[in-house]
Amino acid sequence: MSEREALAFSREEMREFGYQVIDQLIDYYDGRDERRVTGELDHDALEAILREPLPHAGQPWPEVLEQFQAQVVAPTNHVDHPRFFAYIPLANNFVGVMADALAAGYNIFNAVWLQGAGAAQVERLTVDWLRRIFGFPPEAGGTFVSGGSMANLTALAVARQSRLRGEMRGAVAYCSDQIHFAISRGLRVLGFTPDQLRKIPSDESFRLSLPRLRQAIAEDRAAGRRPFCVIATAGTTNTGAVDPLETLADFCRGEDLWLHVDGAYGAPAMLTARGRRALAGLQRADSLALDAHKWLFQPIECGVVIVRQRRWLTETFIEQPEYLKDVEQSDDELNFMYQGVQLTRQFRALKLWMSFKVFGLDAISRAIESGFHNAELAETLLRQAGCWEIVTPAQMAIVTFRYQPANGDEALANRVTHDLVGRLLEDGFAFASGTQLRGKTVLRMCCNNPRTTTEDLEQTVALLGRLAAELAEM
Ligand SMILES: *Cc1c(COP(=O)(O)O)cnc(C)c1O
Repeated sequence: MSEREALAFSREEMREFGYQVIDQLIDYYDGRDERRVTGELDHDALEAILREPLPHAGQPWPEVLEQFQAQVVAPTNHVDHPRFFAYIPLANNFVGVMADALAAGYNIFNAVWLQGAGAAQVERLTVDWLRRIFGFPPEAGGTFVSGGSMANLTALAVARQSRLRGEMRGAVAYCSDQIHFAISRGLRVLGFTPDQLRKIPSDESFRLSLPRLRQAIAEDRAAGRRPFCVIATAGTTNTGAVDPLETLADFCRGEDLWLHVDGAYGAPAMLTARGRRALAGLQRADSLALDAHKWLFQPIECGVVIVRQRRWLTETFIEQPEYLKDVEQSDDELNFMYQGVQLTRQFRALKLWMSFKVFGLDAISRAIESGFHNAELAETLLRQAGCWEIVTPAQMAIVTFRYQPANGDEALANRVTHDLVGRLLEDGFAFASGTQLRGKTVLRMCCNNPRTTTEDLEQTVALLGRLAAELAEM
């Protein structure tokens, strides 16, 4: 069989292909700040590309790489760009990128200790580092998953198993109305009906309201239902609000309820002094979800779930098929296939482990800290501009605001604020997104990219002012 028939490449070709990929990436990183944030193709052009027949015969790889650049990269909104402030920016790092290449290159099967002992040890160690960072006890454990949605779903499956033992009738979970949809979807996937999740109206700071929570739980108990779980958010996606974790931990202990914390966005702030103050109580959760591809700077797919007792994971997910019998002798903790819903799984811990080691935690803490600082600077600049109302001040690196015309015209304020997102997309220099807070349209800037500079923020706020003035004239 020829090399190509075996789907292989010669040493020289691999080198050439690999170097070209690296060169493309370096060119991208190098000139990124000068380039557009948003995609370069308009809607019609997008419709026309990538409609191809099945490729029965192969074609030279340089052509395919070229097509990737022209048709896949070009229309992309760059979530890692220093002037991308929309949703949650995903500022990855080069060490993580290379680690992903290594994990794919060696194709390490990280499900069973026997097959990938080194990988299993790295995953256990990295989870243990996170456990220490978050202040969980030594018997806590965890596992890497694809992202925040899967981390939340995995944690909720553990809560269901530990608290309900398969009897879901009448069970109720509680959260604030600021919850991420990953929670409602996760519960739905786990077989709960929508009325088994109570979304409690949040307080004036968009936090879970304890008096309202207490009342809802009392009412449910009186009606014979079975409250089992409270879901708090450590940094909401909308405003960065942090639910009162310490108070909720006390309350859940008193009421014998599971406390799950969705820290997908905010949990990494525990690496900073400010974050530890804001997130006090997080260490008392029964389960915690986080996204290392958000504020821990990893390439996309890097979520982690941590539970207070590592055996809870195995108790929830263990299965013992015939063809894996030989695995049982080893430590269950290192058989990651028994700790979540995946069997064959990517070696995702590698990128976080390598990034922690190469940069050091001190540098990573400073990178997280810069997010707090940048959001505060954005708030200051917006206030100085005089045409913005700050809706929620900078917290956990997020500030929300809306256009405020001098004449107080509400309809105009709504229209301009709403239309700004579309104008930013067209303009391409910077990008921020909108959201709804209590029925009001607002803009938000999430500033967790450590490569964002003061100049980026100044230019972005200036651009927002210019575009708003233009829109107000229309
Ligand atoms: C992003 C986010 C999620 C979902 O995480 P994915 O990695 O996108 O699946 C869940 N909760 C919160 C608070 C988030 O910010």
